[in-house]
Amino acid sequence: MKTDPDRPIPPGSTIGIMGSGQLGRMTALAAARLGYRCHVFSPEADSPAEHVAAATVAPYTDRAALKRFARDVDVVTFEFENVPHDCVKLLSERVCVRPSWECLHISQDRLREKNYMASIGVPTAACAEVTSANALTRAAANLGRPAVLKTTRLGYDGKGQVMVKADTDPQAAWAEMGAEVGILESFIDFEREISVIVARTPDGQSVAFDPVENRHVNHILDTTIAPAPISAALAQEAVDIAGRIAQSMDLIGLLAVEMFVTRQSGILVNEIAPRPHNSGHWTIDACVTSQFEQFVRAICGLPLGSPERHSDAVMKNLIGTDVEDWREHLSDGGAKVHLYGKAETRSGRKMGHVTRLFAKGSEPTP
Ligand code: AMP
Repeated sequence: MKTDPDRPIPPGSTIGIMGSGQLGRMTALAAARLGYRCHVFSPEADSPAEHVAAATVAPYTDRAALKRFARDVDVVTFEFENVPHDCVKLLSERVCVRPSWECLHISQDRLREKNYMASIGVPTAACAEVTSANALTRAAANLGRPAVLKTTRLGYDGKGQVMVKADTDPQAAWAEMGAEVGILESFIDFEREISVIVARTPDGQSVAFDPVENRHVNHILDTTIAPAPISAALAQEAVDIAGRIAQSMDLIGLLAVEMFVTRQSGILVNEIAPRPHNSGHWTIDACVTSQFEQFVRAICGLPLGSPERHSDAVMKNLIGTDVEDWREHLSDGGAKVHLYGKAETRSGRKMGHVTRLFAKGSEPTP
């Protein structure tokens, strides 16, 4: 049944989540604390969120399963960008979907995302669409080298990314990227990477968590430092940019905005994600309201909680076999250990995370 957009979706209702990974799992845990049920929809069986929520296991394109799902839930959201946007569109004809499928659509494609940022005056790395090795040669001549060639779709954690250096053969780079359309971006010699997560309600109220610094290893988030060691003015600028994007998209839910801080041109937006984000996991243990609870509050039209940070924090991802050290982490009484219950450990797979808390203002280092 379609929800009246002006009314809160009360505790006791069922939140439908497209995707069933760790973000869905942590959302379902936060939702349960507020008295909600969750029902996840994904093609994968035995996934992290299915251990803590009702589940439909079906392809995203299974229209009959989508229609049944729409009947069984009071609001639909997603925890994963690569859900086909037309299936989310179909759901939105039957049930309230937050954020809207249009927000998902913008964030699913790097070119569309960059064009959207340009249209609202948000600075990003210079970039060009490329559809062949010859086009890549021309784009690299225009943008300069080094540059980064990325797939426009289905890329995450550095998958589908190729550095185009002074001596890189464009034919080889094009073949390595392996998609029919790509985006070439200027390589940004950044000082640091930061992100901001902003929550926005159906009536346009928004609050943000403190900007954090993110350090990547092999293009995968390794460590988040909260708060980012940046000036108050820069932090405010980052929060303002995230709020401006969420407002322009009329986003209801959470928006994570990843940014580069550069020496020359200040903040450049790298990527957005209209969902909870790995760089917000520290909020579970270090803030009055976690990103997951804030997400539930925003999509259900409840008052937002305080995003205040009561402690500084360092969050470290447990990637692949890192998770085998769980005993060691658990025997450190100060470590908050989160394991995602994934049956199979694979290289590069996010298996859990550990957050360590520090006194507020102590400027923690990993
Ligand atoms: P992405 O999938 O776009 O988030 O890229 C993953 C990581 O690769 C980023 O967090 C950066 O560390 C690095 N990266 C991506 N694009 C660029 C760029 N244009 N210049 C420099 N580093 C980049």
